Amino acid sequence: MVVGASLAGLRAAERLRKEGFRGELIVMGSEEHLPYDRPPLSKELLKGEREAGDIALRGGAEVDAEWLLGETAAGLDLSARVIRTESGRALSFDGLVIATGSAPRRLPNLDPELPGIFELRTLEHSLELRTHLRRSPHLLVVGCGFIGVEVASTARALGAEVTVVSLDPPLAIAGELISGVCAAMLADHGVNLHIGRTVAEVLGDDRFEGVVLDNGTRIEADLALVAVGAAPVTGWLEGSGLELNNGVLCDSSCAAIGVENVVAAGDVARWPNPVFDSAPMRIEHWTNAVEQGSAAALTLLNGSGPDTVYAPVPSFWSDHFGTRLQSVGLPALADETTVVDGSLEERRFVAACRRDGRLVGAITYGMPRGLLKYRLALARGEPSAPEASLAS
Ligand SMILES: Cc1cc2nc3c(=O)[nH]c(=O)nc-3n(C[C@H](O)[C@H](O)[C@H](O)COP(=O)(O)OP(=O)(O)OC[C@H]3O[C@@H](n4cnc5c(N)ncnc54)[C@H](O)[C@@H]3O)c2cc1C
Repeated sequence: MVVGASLAGLRAAERLRKEGFRGELIVMGSEEHLPYDRPPLSKELLKGEREAGDIALRGGAEVDAEWLLGETAAGLDLSARVIRTESGRALSFDGLVIATGSAPRRLPNLDPELPGIFELRTLEHSLELRTHLRRSPHLLVVGCGFIGVEVASTARALGAEVTVVSLDPPLAIAGELISGVCAAMLADHGVNLHIGRTVAEVLGDDRFEGVVLDNGTRIEADLALVAVGAAPVTGWLEGSGLELNNGVLCDSSCAAIGVENVVAAGDVARWPNPVFDSAPMRIEHWTNAVEQGSAAALTLLNGSGPDTVYAPVPSFWSDHFGTRLQSVGLPALADETTVVDGSLEERRFVAACRRDGRLVGAITYGMPRGLLKYRLALARGEPSAPEASLAS
Protein backbone atom coordinates (compact mmCIF):
# COMPACT_ATOMS: atom_id res chain seq x y z
CA MET A 1 0.00 0.00 0.00
CA VAL A 2 1.33 3.40 -0.99
CA VAL A 3 -0.47 6.37 0.58
CA GLY A 4 0.10 9.58 -1.35
CA ALA A 5 -0.28 9.42 -5.14
CA SER A 6 2.26 12.01 -6.12
CA LEU A 7 5.98 12.12 -6.89
CA ALA A 8 7.43 10.06 -4.02
CA GLY A 9 4.53 7.57 -4.05
CA LEU A 10 4.78 7.01 -7.79
CA ARG A 11 8.55 6.49 -7.74
CA ALA A 12 8.14 4.05 -4.84
CA ALA A 13 5.48 2.07 -6.72
CA GLU A 14 7.66 1.97 -9.83
CA ARG A 15 10.67 0.72 -7.88
CA LEU A 16 8.64 -1.98 -6.14
CA ARG A 17 7.62 -3.38 -9.53
CA LYS A 18 11.10 -2.93 -10.99
CA GLU A 19 12.58 -4.95 -8.14
CA GLY A 20 10.20 -7.80 -8.93
CA PHE A 21 7.40 -7.28 -6.41
CA ARG A 22 4.47 -9.26 -7.84
CA GLY A 23 1.91 -8.80 -5.08
CA GLU A 24 -1.10 -6.54 -4.98
CA LEU A 25 -0.08 -2.88 -5.17
CA ILE A 26 -2.48 -0.08 -4.24
CA VAL A 27 -1.63 3.60 -4.56
CA MET A 28 -4.09 5.83 -2.70
CA GLY A 29 -4.29 9.58 -3.10
CA SER A 30 -6.62 12.38 -1.99
CA GLU A 31 -6.43 14.15 -5.31
CA GLU A 32 -8.55 13.01 -8.26
CA HIS A 33 -5.58 13.10 -10.63
CA LEU A 34 -2.87 10.66 -11.53
CA PRO A 35 0.46 12.06 -10.28
CA TYR A 36 1.49 15.39 -11.76
CA ASP A 37 4.45 17.68 -11.39
CA ARG A 38 4.19 20.51 -8.86
CA PRO A 39 7.11 22.83 -9.83
CA PRO A 40 5.23 24.20 -12.90
CA LEU A 41 2.33 25.26 -10.65
CA SER A 42 4.21 28.44 -9.70
CA LYS A 43 6.02 28.78 -13.04
CA GLU A 44 4.97 27.64 -16.56
CA LEU A 45 1.43 26.50 -15.69
CA LEU A 46 0.67 29.65 -13.73
CA LYS A 47 2.04 31.75 -16.57
CA GLY A 48 -0.08 29.90 -19.15
CA GLU A 49 2.89 28.40 -21.00
CA ARG A 50 1.81 24.88 -20.07
CA GLU A 51 -1.58 23.26 -19.49
CA ALA A 52 -2.78 20.61 -17.03
CA GLY A 53 -2.30 17.84 -19.59
CA ASP A 54 1.37 18.79 -20.01
CA ILE A 55 2.42 18.24 -16.41
CA ALA A 56 1.46 14.59 -15.84
CA LEU A 57 4.38 12.74 -14.28
CA ARG A 58 6.12 10.21 -16.48
CA GLY A 59 5.13 6.65 -15.59
CA GLY A 60 1.89 7.46 -13.79
CA ALA A 61 -0.36 5.67 -16.23
CA GLU A 62 2.03 2.76 -16.84
CA VAL A 63 2.87 1.46 -13.38
CA ASP A 64 1.02 -1.80 -12.68
CA ALA A 65 -0.98 -0.70 -9.61
CA GLU A 66 -4.55 -0.13 -8.51
CA TRP A 67 -5.03 3.63 -8.20
CA LEU A 68 -7.45 4.69 -5.48
CA LEU A 69 -7.80 8.34 -6.41
CA GLY A 70 -9.97 10.81 -4.53
CA GLU A 71 -9.58 8.62 -1.43
CA THR A 72 -8.05 10.03 1.76
CA ALA A 73 -6.43 7.93 4.48
CA ALA A 74 -7.88 8.95 7.84
CA GLY A 75 -6.17 6.59 10.26
CA LEU A 76 -3.58 3.85 10.60
CA ASP A 77 -3.92 0.80 12.86
CA LEU A 78 -0.48 -0.74 13.02
CA SER A 79 -1.41 -3.81 15.04
CA ALA A 80 -4.22 -4.81 12.65
CA ARG A 81 -2.21 -3.45 9.71
CA VAL A 82 -5.22 -1.60 8.38
CA ILE A 83 -5.76 1.85 6.93
CA ARG A 84 -9.11 3.55 7.47
CA THR A 85 -10.20 6.01 4.82
CA GLU A 86 -12.37 9.10 5.11
CA SER A 87 -15.01 7.34 3.01
CA GLY A 88 -15.22 4.55 5.64
CA ARG A 89 -13.19 1.82 3.97
CA ALA A 90 -10.73 -0.38 5.87
CA LEU A 91 -7.83 -1.53 3.71
CA SER A 92 -5.36 -4.09 4.98
CA PHE A 93 -1.70 -4.12 4.01
CA ASP A 94 1.49 -6.07 4.53
CA GLY A 95 3.84 -3.24 3.65
CA LEU A 96 3.23 0.51 3.68
CA VAL A 97 4.88 3.48 1.97
CA ILE A 98 3.91 6.79 3.57
CA ALA A 99 4.19 9.51 0.92
CA THR A 100 1.60 12.09 1.93
CA GLY A 101 3.89 15.06 1.26
CA SER A 102 3.38 18.46 2.80
CA ALA A 103 0.64 21.08 2.81
CA PRO A 104 0.79 24.90 2.94
CA ARG A 105 1.05 26.45 6.38
CA ARG A 106 -1.75 28.85 7.13
CA LEU A 107 -1.93 32.14 8.99
CA PRO A 108 -4.85 32.63 11.37
CA ASN A 109 -5.99 35.92 9.87
CA LEU A 110 -5.56 34.98 6.18
CA ASP A 111 -8.17 32.31 5.62
CA PRO A 112 -8.06 30.78 2.12
CA GLU A 113 -11.84 30.27 2.44
CA LEU A 114 -12.25 34.04 1.95
CA PRO A 115 -12.62 34.78 -1.80
CA GLY A 116 -9.46 36.44 -3.07
CA ILE A 117 -7.10 34.62 -0.66
CA PHE A 118 -5.09 31.78 -2.19
CA GLU A 119 -2.58 29.11 -1.29
CA LEU A 120 -0.59 27.11 -3.83
CA ARG A 121 -0.07 23.37 -3.68
CA THR A 122 -2.41 21.73 -6.20
CA LEU A 123 -3.29 21.94 -9.86
CA GLU A 124 -6.64 23.50 -8.96
CA HIS A 125 -4.96 26.19 -6.84
CA SER A 126 -2.68 27.14 -9.72
CA LEU A 127 -5.42 27.21 -12.36
CA GLU A 128 -7.68 29.34 -10.20
CA LEU A 129 -4.92 31.79 -9.34
CA ARG A 130 -4.01 31.96 -13.03
CA THR A 131 -7.56 32.95 -13.99
CA HIS A 132 -7.44 35.83 -11.53
CA LEU A 133 -3.90 36.92 -12.47
CA ARG A 134 -4.99 37.36 -16.09
CA ARG A 135 -7.08 40.34 -15.01
CA SER A 136 -3.88 42.29 -14.13
CA PRO A 137 -4.78 42.66 -10.48
CA HIS A 138 -2.78 43.90 -7.52
CA LEU A 139 -1.44 40.73 -5.90
CA LEU A 140 -0.22 40.65 -2.33
CA VAL A 141 2.22 37.81 -1.63
CA VAL A 142 2.61 36.97 2.04
CA GLY A 143 5.88 35.13 2.60
CA CYS A 144 9.06 35.35 0.57
CA GLY A 145 10.35 31.79 0.28
CA PHE A 146 10.76 30.02 -3.04
CA ILE A 147 7.06 29.83 -3.89
CA GLY A 148 6.43 33.45 -2.89
CA VAL A 149 9.33 34.68 -5.05
CA GLU A 150 8.37 32.48 -8.01
CA VAL A 151 4.75 33.62 -7.94
CA ALA A 152 5.85 37.27 -7.61
CA SER A 153 8.01 36.76 -10.70
CA THR A 154 5.25 35.03 -12.70
CA ALA A 155 2.65 37.60 -11.69
CA ARG A 156 4.93 40.48 -12.76
CA ALA A 157 5.46 38.76 -16.11
CA LEU A 158 1.66 38.62 -16.48
CA GLY A 159 1.39 42.34 -15.81
CA ALA A 160 0.10 42.24 -12.24
CA GLU A 161 1.14 44.79 -9.65
CA VAL A 162 2.88 42.80 -6.89
CA THR A 163 3.53 43.59 -3.24
CA VAL A 164 5.43 41.18 -1.00
CA VAL A 165 5.07 41.20 2.79
CA SER A 166 7.41 38.98 4.75
CA LEU A 167 8.90 38.69 8.20
CA ASP A 168 12.04 37.08 6.76
CA PRO A 169 14.10 38.49 3.90
CA PRO A 170 13.65 36.87 0.47
CA LEU A 171 14.86 33.26 0.24
CA ALA A 172 16.20 33.54 3.79
CA ILE A 173 16.83 29.79 3.85
CA ALA A 174 19.49 30.19 1.15
CA GLY A 175 21.51 32.59 3.29
CA GLU A 176 22.18 36.34 3.37
CA LEU A 177 24.16 36.55 0.17
CA ILE A 178 21.45 34.95 -2.01
CA SER A 179 18.80 36.84 -0.09
CA GLY A 180 20.42 40.15 -1.00
CA VAL A 181 20.64 39.22 -4.68
CA CYS A 182 17.02 38.09 -4.73
CA ALA A 183 15.81 41.26 -2.95
CA ALA A 184 17.56 43.34 -5.63
CA MET A 185 15.92 41.25 -8.37
CA LEU A 186 12.48 41.74 -6.85
CA ALA A 187 13.02 45.50 -6.60
CA ASP A 188 14.40 45.72 -10.17
CA HIS A 189 11.26 44.01 -11.43
CA GLY A 190 9.01 46.51 -9.73
CA VAL A 191 7.87 44.36 -6.78
CA ASN A 192 7.00 46.43 -3.68
CA LEU A 193 8.78 44.87 -0.71
CA HIS A 194 7.77 45.09 2.97
CA ILE A 195 10.39 42.98 4.76
CA GLY A 196 10.31 42.46 8.52
CA ARG A 197 6.57 43.06 8.51
CA THR A 198 3.51 40.95 9.04
CA VAL A 199 -0.21 41.28 8.39
CA ALA A 200 -2.07 42.74 11.38
CA GLU A 201 -5.52 43.09 9.81
CA VAL A 202 -7.30 41.85 6.72
CA LEU A 203 -9.61 44.27 4.88
CA GLY A 204 -12.87 43.11 3.29
CA ASP A 205 -15.86 41.18 4.63
CA ASP A 206 -17.12 39.07 1.73
CA ARG A 207 -13.89 39.09 -0.21
CA PHE A 208 -10.27 40.10 0.24
CA GLU A 209 -9.65 43.81 -0.30
CA GLY A 210 -6.24 44.37 1.28
CA VAL A 211 -4.36 44.39 4.56
CA VAL A 212 -3.02 46.63 7.27
CA LEU A 213 0.53 45.72 8.28
CA ASP A 214 1.87 45.63 11.85
CA ASN A 215 3.43 49.08 11.31
CA GLY A 216 0.08 50.56 10.26
CA THR A 217 0.77 50.56 6.50
CA ARG A 218 -2.45 50.01 4.57
CA ILE A 219 -2.17 48.05 1.31
CA GLU A 220 -5.18 47.71 -0.97
CA ALA A 221 -5.00 44.62 -3.17
CA ASP A 222 -7.31 42.33 -5.16
CA LEU A 223 -5.72 39.00 -4.31
CA ALA A 224 -3.46 37.52 -1.66
CA LEU A 225 -1.25 34.47 -1.91
CA VAL A 226 -0.24 32.99 1.43
CA ALA A 227 3.15 31.32 0.90
CA VAL A 228 4.61 30.90 4.37
CA GLY A 229 6.04 27.41 4.00
CA ALA A 230 4.64 23.90 4.24
CA ALA A 231 4.12 21.32 6.99
CA PRO A 232 4.32 17.54 6.61
CA VAL A 233 0.94 15.82 6.25
CA THR A 234 0.90 13.49 9.25
CA GLY A 235 -2.51 14.24 10.83
CA TRP A 236 -3.89 10.88 9.63
CA LEU A 237 -1.08 9.10 11.50
CA GLU A 238 -1.78 10.69 14.90
CA GLY A 239 -2.27 7.99 17.54
CA SER A 240 -0.87 5.23 15.32
CA GLY A 241 2.27 4.84 17.44
CA LEU A 242 4.57 6.13 14.71
CA GLU A 243 7.07 8.73 15.88
CA LEU A 244 5.82 12.01 14.47
CA ASN A 245 7.91 15.10 14.95
CA ASN A 246 8.03 17.42 11.96
CA GLY A 247 7.42 14.40 9.73
CA VAL A 248 7.55 10.63 10.09
CA LEU A 249 10.76 9.79 11.91
CA CYS A 250 12.75 7.12 10.06
CA ASP A 251 16.09 5.36 10.30
CA SER A 252 18.84 5.97 7.75
CA SER A 253 17.13 3.53 5.34
CA CYS A 254 13.80 5.42 5.47
CA ALA A 255 12.09 2.74 7.60
CA ALA A 256 9.71 4.20 10.19
CA ILE A 257 11.28 3.91 13.64
CA GLY A 258 10.13 0.98 15.74
CA VAL A 259 7.71 -0.70 13.30
CA GLU A 260 8.03 -3.43 10.73
CA ASN A 261 7.42 -2.94 7.02
CA VAL A 262 6.54 0.74 7.08
CA VAL A 263 8.67 3.25 5.21
CA ALA A 264 8.29 6.95 4.41
CA ALA A 265 9.51 9.11 1.54
CA GLY A 266 9.42 12.62 0.15
CA ASP A 267 8.30 15.80 1.91
CA VAL A 268 6.73 13.83 4.78
CA ALA A 269 9.82 11.81 5.79
CA ARG A 270 12.49 12.76 8.32
CA TRP A 271 15.63 10.68 8.44
CA PRO A 272 19.32 10.96 9.38
CA ASN A 273 21.27 11.56 6.20
CA PRO A 274 24.82 10.19 6.65
CA VAL A 275 26.16 12.84 4.24
CA PHE A 276 25.59 15.32 7.07
CA ASP A 277 25.43 14.66 10.80
CA SER A 278 23.11 12.36 12.73
CA ALA A 279 20.34 14.99 13.12
CA PRO A 280 17.30 13.80 11.13
CA MET A 281 16.31 16.09 8.27
CA ARG A 282 13.22 16.61 6.18
CA ILE A 283 13.67 17.87 2.65
CA GLU A 284 10.99 19.50 0.49
CA HIS A 285 12.76 19.12 -2.84
CA TRP A 286 11.53 17.48 -6.03
CA THR A 287 14.72 15.44 -6.51
CA ASN A 288 14.53 14.11 -2.97
CA ALA A 289 10.95 12.87 -3.51
CA VAL A 290 12.15 10.95 -6.59
CA GLU A 291 15.22 9.44 -4.97
CA GLN A 292 13.73 8.76 -1.56
CA GLY A 293 10.58 7.17 -3.02
CA SER A 294 12.78 4.73 -4.84
CA ALA A 295 15.10 4.14 -1.86
CA ALA A 296 12.20 3.57 0.55
CA ALA A 297 10.69 0.96 -1.78
CA LEU A 298 13.97 -0.95 -1.73
CA THR A 299 14.00 -0.86 2.07
CA LEU A 300 10.44 -2.19 2.16
CA LEU A 301 11.56 -5.18 0.11
CA ASN A 302 15.01 -5.78 1.62
CA GLY A 303 14.85 -4.27 5.11
CA SER A 304 17.07 -1.66 6.75
CA GLY A 305 20.79 -2.27 6.53
CA PRO A 306 24.03 -1.01 5.03
CA ASP A 307 22.78 -1.78 1.49
CA THR A 308 19.65 0.34 1.85
CA VAL A 309 21.05 3.42 3.61
CA TYR A 310 19.74 6.55 1.88
CA ALA A 311 22.56 9.11 1.67
CA PRO A 312 21.76 11.68 -1.02
CA VAL A 313 23.34 15.05 -1.70
CA PRO A 314 20.17 17.16 -1.77
CA SER A 315 19.65 19.39 -4.78
CA PHE A 316 17.13 22.06 -5.62
CA TRP A 317 16.27 24.59 -8.30
CA SER A 318 14.04 27.64 -8.50
CA ASP A 319 13.22 29.79 -11.54
CA HIS A 320 12.48 33.46 -11.06
CA PHE A 321 12.90 36.63 -13.10
CA GLY A 322 14.41 34.73 -16.02
CA THR A 323 17.22 33.16 -13.99
CA ARG A 324 17.67 29.77 -12.41
CA LEU A 325 18.90 29.34 -8.87
CA GLN A 326 20.33 25.89 -8.14
CA SER A 327 21.80 24.41 -5.02
CA VAL A 328 23.47 21.23 -3.82
CA GLY A 329 23.83 20.16 -0.21
CA LEU A 330 22.15 22.22 2.47
CA PRO A 331 23.05 25.92 2.18
CA ALA A 332 20.60 26.55 5.03
CA LEU A 333 23.13 25.04 7.45
CA ALA A 334 25.91 27.47 6.48
CA ASP A 335 27.41 30.15 8.71
CA GLU A 336 29.56 31.45 5.86
CA THR A 337 28.79 31.79 2.13
CA THR A 338 31.54 32.94 -0.24
CA VAL A 339 31.43 33.68 -3.96
CA VAL A 340 34.00 31.38 -5.60
CA ASP A 341 33.30 31.99 -9.29
CA GLY A 342 31.49 34.52 -11.48
CA SER A 343 30.24 37.87 -10.23
CA LEU A 344 27.58 39.00 -7.80
CA GLU A 345 27.00 42.21 -9.81
CA GLU A 346 26.18 40.20 -12.95
CA ARG A 347 24.00 37.87 -10.86
CA ARG A 348 25.87 34.94 -12.38
CA PHE A 349 28.01 33.22 -9.79
CA VAL A 350 28.75 30.14 -7.69
CA ALA A 351 28.96 30.42 -3.91
CA ALA A 352 30.32 27.81 -1.50
CA CYS A 353 28.47 27.36 1.80
CA ARG A 354 30.34 26.27 4.92
CA ARG A 355 29.63 25.66 8.54
CA ASP A 356 32.52 25.80 10.99
CA GLY A 357 34.77 25.68 7.94
CA ARG A 358 33.17 22.50 6.64
CA LEU A 359 31.50 22.39 3.23
CA VAL A 360 27.72 21.95 3.60
CA GLY A 361 26.53 23.09 0.18
CA ALA A 362 26.94 25.30 -2.85
CA ILE A 363 24.53 27.54 -4.67
CA THR A 364 24.50 29.27 -8.03
CA TYR A 365 22.62 31.74 -10.13
CA GLY A 366 23.15 30.89 -13.79
CA MET A 367 26.30 28.70 -13.54
CA PRO A 368 24.92 25.18 -12.94
CA ARG A 369 28.06 23.39 -14.07
CA GLY A 370 29.95 25.11 -11.28
CA LEU A 371 28.02 22.98 -8.76
CA LEU A 372 29.28 19.62 -9.96
CA LYS A 373 32.55 19.66 -8.05
CA TYR A 374 30.76 20.60 -4.86
CA ARG A 375 28.23 17.85 -5.32
CA LEU A 376 31.07 15.33 -5.69
CA ALA A 377 32.96 16.75 -2.71
CA LEU A 378 29.83 16.48 -0.55
CA ALA A 379 29.12 12.94 -1.75
CA ARG A 380 32.71 11.95 -0.91
CA GLY A 381 32.39 13.60 2.49
CA GLU A 382 35.32 15.95 1.91
CA PRO A 383 35.13 18.30 4.87
CA SER A 384 36.89 21.37 3.48
CA ALA A 385 37.28 21.09 -0.26
CA PRO A 386 39.83 23.76 -1.31
CA GLU A 387 38.32 26.71 -3.17
CA ALA A 388 41.22 27.05 -5.60
CA SER A 389 40.86 23.62 -7.11
CA LEU A 390 37.09 23.52 -6.80
CA ALA A 391 36.28 26.78 -8.48
CA SER A 392 38.39 26.50 -11.62
C1 LIG B 1 4.16 25.39 -6.30
C2 LIG B 1 5.33 24.47 -6.02
C3 LIG B 1 6.52 24.67 -6.71
C4 LIG B 1 7.61 23.86 -6.45
N1 LIG B 1 8.78 24.07 -7.14
C5 LIG B 1 9.86 23.30 -6.87
C6 LIG B 1 11.09 23.53 -7.57
O1 LIG B 1 11.20 24.44 -8.41
N2 LIG B 1 12.15 22.74 -7.27
C7 LIG B 1 12.07 21.72 -6.35
O2 LIG B 1 13.08 21.03 -6.09
N3 LIG B 1 10.91 21.49 -5.67
C8 LIG B 1 9.82 22.25 -5.93
N4 LIG B 1 8.64 22.01 -5.25
C9 LIG B 1 8.60 20.94 -4.22
C10 LIG B 1 8.25 19.58 -4.81
O3 LIG B 1 7.19 19.68 -5.72
C11 LIG B 1 7.90 18.64 -3.66
O4 LIG B 1 9.08 18.46 -2.91
C12 LIG B 1 7.35 17.31 -4.14
O5 LIG B 1 6.10 17.47 -4.77
C13 LIG B 1 7.18 16.35 -2.95
O6 LIG B 1 6.60 15.18 -3.40
P1 LIG B 1 5.83 14.19 -2.41
O7 LIG B 1 5.34 13.07 -3.26
O8 LIG B 1 6.66 13.92 -1.22
O9 LIG B 1 4.60 15.05 -1.84
P2 LIG B 1 3.42 15.80 -2.56
O10 LIG B 1 3.79 16.18 -3.94
O11 LIG B 1 2.97 16.86 -1.61
O12 LIG B 1 2.28 14.71 -2.67
C14 LIG B 1 1.63 14.14 -1.57
C15 LIG B 1 0.32 13.57 -2.06
O13 LIG B 1 -0.29 12.87 -1.00
C16 LIG B 1 -1.67 13.18 -0.99
N5 LIG B 1 -2.18 12.98 0.37
C17 LIG B 1 -1.94 13.77 1.47
N6 LIG B 1 -2.57 13.27 2.55
C18 LIG B 1 -3.21 12.15 2.12
C19 LIG B 1 -4.00 11.19 2.78
N7 LIG B 1 -4.28 11.28 4.11
N8 LIG B 1 -4.51 10.18 2.06
C20 LIG B 1 -4.24 10.07 0.74
N9 LIG B 1 -3.47 10.95 0.06
C21 LIG B 1 -2.96 11.98 0.76
C22 LIG B 1 -1.72 14.63 -1.42
O14 LIG B 1 -3.01 14.96 -1.88
C23 LIG B 1 -0.67 14.66 -2.50
O15 LIG B 1 -1.19 14.35 -3.77
C24 LIG B 1 7.52 22.82 -5.49
C25 LIG B 1 6.31 22.63 -4.80
C26 LIG B 1 5.23 23.44 -5.06
C27 LIG B 1 3.94 23.23 -4.31
